[in-house]
Amino acid sequence: MKWSWRVGRIADVTVYLHATLLILIAWVGYEYYAWRHRAGDVVEAVLFVACFFVIVLLHELGHALAARRYGIRTRDITLMPIGGLARMDALPDKPHQELIVALAGPSVNFLIALLYWGTISPISELALTTDLSWGGGHFFQKLAWANLAMGVFNLVPAFPMDGGRVLRSILAMRLGANRATRLAVDVGQALAFAFGAVGLYAMNPLWVFIALFVFVGADQELELVKMRSVLSGVPIKRVMITDLRTLAPHDRLDRAIDHTLAGFHQDFPVLEGDRVVGILTRRGLLTALTRQGQNATVDDVMQREFQTAQPSEEADAVFGRLQTSDCRSLPVLDHNRLVGMVTAENLGEFLMIQSALRGKRKAAQG
Ligand SMILES: [Zn+2]
Repeated sequence: MKWSWRVGRIADVTVYLHATLLILIAWVGYEYYAWRHRAGDVVEAVLFVACFFVIVLLHELGHALAARRYGIRTRDITLMPIGGLARMDALPDKPHQELIVALAGPSVNFLIALLYWGTISPISELALTTDLSWGGGHFFQKLAWANLAMGVFNLVPAFPMDGGRVLRSILAMRLGANRATRLAVDVGQALAFAFGAVGLYAMNPLWVFIALFVFVGADQELELVKMRSVLSGVPIKRVMITDLRTLAPHDRLDRAIDHTLAGFHQDFPVLEGDRVVGILTRRGLLTALTRQGQNATVDDVMQREFQTAQPSEEADAVFGRLQTSDCRSLPVLDHNRLVGMVTAENLGEFLMIQSALRGKRKAAQG
């Protein structure tokens, strides 16, 4: 994601900090200084926000580790003011898997709460607590409450929040993925209206923001499920681009320009002998042309990390991989030999054609 900094890697998952989170921390520090005028309070407030986001990270890692049990890799987690965003290579297919993955995040919060109130709290509170009110209280106690609130709030059944995913997975066990998603989306969007109303009434921008996030997120997931249902069962070899233009690593970029202007696809596979060694994307090409001109060679600018597919693989699985990949194109390999390419546009075209054909069938029936 743009404006994110890599801060480390935990359990094979890269962790990024989004710039807006630093702005939030700076803002909290400033507000506390304006309010209390004491450096100690500012440090405590900033430390509190930092610890809170460590808990957000643990929550996301809970999802990631549960998904890993089902063979789904989490590429990275980005911490943002609204929470953590985990990018998984795929979504869990089976309802019971989605249920476990969705519950795993809030379970981490409940586990932390249990640990705190079960062990640390009785000792430390005797010694340290001087003020039990919500605004006061000592640091870890406030943090423990915030952690518990995070766990409970995430279970609100507002799809695509965790609780909404729990709802969908339970519905999907009986109704199938399509109807379950439609129902979960309806409930989620009704709750989004409620969040929005609360936010506007209380003049709280965070609630309005969450309402928007839920509303738009629910719509996107519904679209996704519709697309995947059309793509499921279709082998990718029926969808892929087969009229291909390829490049070699030592080719100069003007060859890629010729291909592009001739109207072929936008991203080109780069072949060394029979083997695909990279992809020259349109964005990569344009960036390189700005920086180095058309005399640069393809291997200077090609993308070396990309996903691949096999011709018999189902299109919906490939689509899922394409969505989480940094590269917008994906070579289809038959025993390591290039036989086609898949891009998001090309899948979109397939979907348009299918929906037109369905329209024709309906018209013929009606
Ligand atoms: Zn979660």
